[in-house]
Amino acid sequence: MTSSKTIARERDHACKNQGGYCCYCTLPMLPVGDASPLECTAEHLQALCDGGTHRGNIAAAHRWCNQRRHDLFQPAPPPEKYRQIVEKQVANNTWFSTPLLKQLEEYA
Ligand SMILES: [Zn+2]
Repeated sequence: MTSSKTIARERDHACKNQGGYCCYCTLPMLPVGDASPLECTAEHLQALCDGGTHRGNIAAAHRWCNQRRHDLFQPAPPPEKYRQIVEKQVANNTWFSTPLLKQLEEYA
């Protein structure tokens, strides 16, 4: 089995376990294949470059939330810390752009 298949399987499993909600912002995710920042992606809780593996290390997160963990911070904060940052920004309405919020509302 290739690692991309392992990742996809772990992601689907995580998504199901999380009830379709993002592990960071806890808002609903769009199905895989929906080319949107709100699409469900595999988030490696421990980054591969830090020695993380695929198995048991993958949570489901929006592409948006997943990428920003690495785009906004160097190095990326631990998952728990990042979740707190995201939650605060979601509460302040500063996490998602207006078009994304609209997309979320339409999907929910
Ligand atoms: Zn999210």
